[in-house]
Amino acid sequence: MLREFLIGRDIDCPRCKYNLRDCSGTFCPECGVPLELHVVSAYQRLGWWLVGFIALATPFGFNLVLALIAAYGAWQLRSSWGWNDSDSILLGVLCGATVIAGVSLLIHTFRRGSFLRNPPRVQVLKTIATIVFAAALQAAVIAAFKRL
Ligand SMILES: [Zn+2]
Repeated sequence: MLREFLIGRDIDCPRCKYNLRDCSGTFCPECGVPLELHVVSAYQRLGWWLVGFIALATPFGFNLVLALIAAYGAWQLRSSWGWNDSDSILLGVLCGATVIAGVSLLIHTFRRGSFLRNPPRVQVLKTIATIVFAAALQAAVIAAFKRL
């Protein structure tokens, strides 16, 4: 298919810009880079996927910063009166929320392709579910802060 595509077409090598017109191999004859034929879209409608990504990235970043500050506080106050059990629980909650948000963010990122294959209505519903999940996670963190 690649050879047929290059017949009569002025296509530059993606690496060295050598004109691949009528090339018969699957490597650039000039620089030797392997060549592949792909179908891509310039318009992928990332909108709803991106909204879900931001919904998960926000609590991940927020809780990570708080967990790092709390861990630094624990390290500074570890042998003094300033650190107590509820602070340790709070540090645990922050670390747990960071891990949950981080894993969710990774899953969301790696499943982008299957998300984008859904019809728009399903993408909206999945994004709303992601936002509700992220908000519930953050509400649990805030509830832990208020309680401790
Ligand atoms: Zn080349």
